[in-house]
Amino acid sequence: MSVHTMETLSLFNSEPYRRDFGARVIAVVDQAVVLEHTLFYPTGGGQPGDTGYFSLVDGTRIAVTGTVRDPLLPSIIWHQVQECPPQLCTGALLNASLDWQRRYQHMKMHTCLHLLGALIDAPVTGCSISVDKGRLDFHLPEMTLDKDSITRDLNTLIERACPINVMTMQASEYSDLPKKTARPPVFQDELRVVEISGVDIQPCGGTHVHNTREIGRVYCEKIEKKSRTNRRVILRFEQA
Ligand SMILES: [Zn+2]
Repeated sequence: MSVHTMETLSLFNSEPYRRDFGARVIAVVDQAVVLEHTLFYPTGGGQPGDTGYFSLVDGTRIAVTGTVRDPLLPSIIWHQVQECPPQLCTGALLNASLDWQRRYQHMKMHTCLHLLGALIDAPVTGCSISVDKGRLDFHLPEMTLDKDSITRDLNTLIERACPINVMTMQASEYSDLPKKTARPPVFQDELRVVEISGVDIQPCGGTHVHNTREIGRVYCEKIEKKSRTNRRVILRFEQA
């Protein structure tokens, strides 16, 4: 298979709660592996790439230290591995497992940052997610934000137990959507859209929880002035 016809099917889009899968290796280059399909989310939209491990047929366990899209061919997803024994080769079958605890924290914080984006009426200029915290940067020349009211309003939305729906839209439909965040990659003219029922609708390629209540309690730790026009709002889980 030529690298130009290669594609990794993205199982994390349709099955964000699945943790294990079997797959065939379709390419190995240096310390990176392409599978025919994957549950490993690749770094993007502020959400870190997944980690976990591969189990080979002979029982060898190999750590997956990161996941990224190919910079030139974004339909290809590379799994960065700690070591590359000879039996990890094109055509090999393996089982793969996510570091689920880490990924689930990313899902909760990603959904929480969409809530934050809906609360603050300003364009988003940056986004970052990690296991215990997350942040959004806003284009906001005036300091109108308050930590305590952000904490209160976010927890109110979380406790409202709003369902999250993920859908795809055609190019003609999505031009009317609000443009708060960076657009996720568009494949075949389709855009993935994440709706938090009654609160927010955003184009997004990330993985999300099914219901805002899963996020648990959060608090606004800090509001930083990053430049004359930029404010950074940092959130943390009350319990990591
Ligand atoms: Zn998002």
